[in-house]
Amino acid sequence: MKSEIHPTYQEKAIITCSCGNSFNTGSTIESLAIEVCSACHPFYTGKQKVIDIAGRVDKFKKRQEEAVALNEQLGKSKKKTAPKTSPKAEVIRISK
Ligand SMILES: [Zn+2]
Repeated sequence: MKSEIHPTYQEKAIITCSCGNSFNTGSTIESLAIEVCSACHPFYTGKQKVIDIAGRVDKFKKRQEEAVALNEQLGKSKKKTAPKTSPKAEVIRISK
């Protein structure tokens, strides 16, 4: 093992999730911000969730509404024009 080329190992690096959960682990980085952890991941919670980074969900909904409006202008009216959203879905907004 060569000397003075290895990063400092942090025994208790602080990992902070966007849900507010934080825990310690071993890492070469002192602190790390993550978006999903085992306390809030749908696989573990059983609840559906949409993680919105920089308003992507809002942008998608806006584009969807614009497309519906354009279709109506062109006379291609569909019976199902309302966007389908799951009532169980929880949107978490993360701004960067
Ligand atoms: Zn989390």
